[in-house]
Amino acid sequence: MTPLVCARCAAPALLAARYPHTWHNGSGERVEGLRESVLCASCDTDDPAAAPLLALLAVTPPPPSPCLANAVEVWLTTIRHRVPDPTTLDTEETLWRTGDL
Ligand SMILES: [Zn+2]
Repeated sequence: MTPLVCARCAAPALLAARYPHTWHNGSGERVEGLRESVLCASCDTDDPAAAPLLALLAVTPPPPSPCLANAVEVWLTTIRHRVPDPTTLDTEETLWRTGDL
């Protein structure tokens, strides 16, 4: 199994969640697929949606499964509705097209 890494910083990720996701392509057709969200102990420390889950994952011994499941659900409920910043996306697309990314 390939270790899970954060795409933002390349550090080992704490967990990843895949869930159904739909969008409309350039032709307006509905496309169904999966979306993945990764929890990173480095990149997500300032994210209020991730803070409770990060705190639970730092506890030794780990908390009971229902506590973790609830924290994961709260985290996913928030992050699954986030969309990329269009300005950042345009900048990254330009860098990718020019080979600078
Ligand atoms: Zn990261």
